[in-house]
Amino acid sequence: MAVMGAHKIDNWIFDLDNTLYPAEAALFDQIDARMTSYIMDKLGLAFDHANTLRAHYWQLHGTTLAGLMIEHAIDPDDFLHHVHDICLAHMTPDQRLARAIDQLPGRKIIHTNGSRCHAERVLDACGLRDAFDAIYGVDDLALHPKPKSKAFELLCARADIAPTSAAMIEDTERNLYHPYFMGMQTILVGDNLDQPPHVMYVTNDLTQFLTNTLQQMGQDGQTPG
Ligand SMILES: [Mg+2]
Repeated sequence: MAVMGAHKIDNWIFDLDNTLYPAEAALFDQIDARMTSYIMDKLGLAFDHANTLRAHYWQLHGTTLAGLMIEHAIDPDDFLHHVHDICLAHMTPDQRLARAIDQLPGRKIIHTNGSRCHAERVLDACGLRDAFDAIYGVDDLALHPKPKSKAFELLCARADIAPTSAAMIEDTERNLYHPYFMGMQTILVGDNLDQPPHVMYVTNDLTQFLTNTLQQMGQDGQTPG
């Protein structure tokens, strides 16, 4: 298991979905289904066409929402409200992860392509809300989505983050590209064994990774917590 070295981190920026809970929770299956039905309804398309368009816009524009706004002038508030109306009843609090995040020195920040309201609901369901100092949803960043550079530039400006003092933790590899070239430490979460040059660390166990990092910081003379 890789651990981060003595690099001084003042800001820990976490993605939300499939980063702070396992992909097996399948929240994105629910969100994807609601996006597809939304496109069917708004654009009058059959399921297969709408489903293909959803994935195409995600690939081309960063998010499905960005594609729908650019190409169809869809109302973003209406879209975000609809697609995030999902069931969270099966989510359970993750006390180990909450403790590991809480003990990290510096600020802990959520940066998600979902809405702020979605982030608050998911963090509550996972017992992680109190571990974070700030939440930035795509609706807090003028609807600029990751992986576009503007999203990260706006986040850093609004949250007063110096990129070289920050770590970005993500399950989506392409969302670490700009953070790396801005000077952030980049950590990819998940079972993907590929490690392209813009990914500095990979882990399939975020709690263990953060715990190891805290121990390493202690040994390097920093004061965690
Ligand atoms: Mg994610």
